[in-house]
Amino acid sequence: MKSILNYVGGKFVKGKREFADVNPANGSVIAEVAEADESLVDAAVSAARSALQGPWGRLSVRDRAALLHKIAAGIESRFDCFVAAEVADTGKPITLASKLDVPRAAANFRVFADLIKTAGMESFQTETPDGKTALNYAVRKPLGVVGIITPWNLPILLLTWKVAPALACGNAVVVKPSEETPASATLLAEVMQQAGIPDGVYNVVHGFGPNSAGEFLTRHPDVNAVTFTGESQTGAAIMKTVAATVKPVSFELGGKNAAIVFADCDFEEAVSGISDAAFLNTGQVCLCAERIYVERGIFERFVEALKKKAESLRMGSPLESTTNIGPLISRQHREKVLSYYRLARQEGATTVTGGGVPGFGNDLDGGFYVQPTIYTGLAETVRCVKEEIFGPVCHVAPFDTEEEAVRMANDTKYGLAASIWTSNLKRGHRVAQQMNVGITWVNCWFLRDLRTPFGGVGLSGIGREGGIHSLNFYSDLNNICLRL
Ligand code: NAD
Repeated sequence: MKSILNYVGGKFVKGKREFADVNPANGSVIAEVAEADESLVDAAVSAARSALQGPWGRLSVRDRAALLHKIAAGIESRFDCFVAAEVADTGKPITLASKLDVPRAAANFRVFADLIKTAGMESFQTETPDGKTALNYAVRKPLGVVGIITPWNLPILLLTWKVAPALACGNAVVVKPSEETPASATLLAEVMQQAGIPDGVYNVVHGFGPNSAGEFLTRHPDVNAVTFTGESQTGAAIMKTVAATVKPVSFELGGKNAAIVFADCDFEEAVSGISDAAFLNTGQVCLCAERIYVERGIFERFVEALKKKAESLRMGSPLESTTNIGPLISRQHREKVLSYYRLARQEGATTVTGGGVPGFGNDLDGGFYVQPTIYTGLAETVRCVKEEIFGPVCHVAPFDTEEEAVRMANDTKYGLAASIWTSNLKRGHRVAQQMNVGITWVNCWFLRDLRTPFGGVGLSGIGREGGIHSLNFYSDLNNICLRL
């Protein structure tokens, strides 16, 4: 059986215990994962601290950027290994991992390598009322040791989204990938070694959250900052833990995202875009739309077209190039999603399509599949419309006026993303600007320049990452004031 090891101070290390890595497409155990105990997490943090004192801490920005490009090239040269690891761990279709996850992992390093070379600093020449003049300018310094905790839905994409800017700014990192998807973080360690990243700059500790590697990392007094992507409740628990040592945090959390479809939209484009927004990655993207509001004049036609689209999606083996929908991540997560499917019916939903578990008649029946599902008819106040389900499911509701649509879309404790579908340019801008979210798409979804801000409001997160926003989180600014 394959072993997935921790990576500490440049060495691949076993743990005292192991846990199983399961392929969600058929429920088989594909690897044993070495769990890091508290002493190993401590060793990883010490290794990171030591690396900051070594050659890594003295590298010029240009040399750091060159190393980041080498990491990107290393990912690209092992493209198939990364795709295979992501597909086996998550069950996502091979076409998706090849088009999205792995190319984005490499792109994350390239973008931040280039950005750090051109990121400017603030400077002001001041004259005080009593006639003193001074030059103020800020210099960027690494935060130190950054703890990085990531989820299972886009494992290598989200991990590198944090590792790349953290390294670009000169930090050393200890990453704790999700226990469901450990493989690609350890694979990245091999790439780091080959790229010549000094020992201790990138460390991986495997394990769970509470009373395991996740908690050991967040409460460690020698970790200078914590960046986390995952559920809002987990974010709340981590916030409590880090409060004791007053660390800066960056949180990218859950969502219950809305899409607003106006009658003047490009109908085909909207149906196709909403189908992606509801069902891509089996609905397991934080940006997925679970609440769809459609202008009444096209409501029935839209629901019918979305149903047709959902029923045309092919569920099957992630290894088949024709598969659009893979399994959910785990048996436990499928139980959660199915409990919402049951709840929706109790809450009075009409099932337009789906609502159950598919049968394959082969080993995929041991996997964690659910049908893509569309509901209508729910009240805006019920749990299925309020809570993040994180599966291939959406609720479609009609609206009569723009104001009503905006009010319903914003009536949530979350605030991550929204999409507006209209051919009226003015309305697109007007409605987008009223959305209480971190990102609003107009006539598209899941499209973004990596230099732009990304994050959420309310339960969806704290802070912004992306471009200069990431560089600002992963560095301390020292303001130098020189009397002239
Ligand atoms: P999760 O919160 O259960 O786990 C995420 C990570 O946190 C895992 O590595 C886990 O081991 C760790 N963890 C759990 N409890 C912890 C604790 N007490 N201390 C330290 N670490 C702990 O999330 P998940 O189920 O892996 O991912 C799905 C969630 O992530 C969804 O809510 C989704 O919306 C969210 N998400 C958000 C974004 C975003 O950018 N906003 C992106 C992807 C996923």
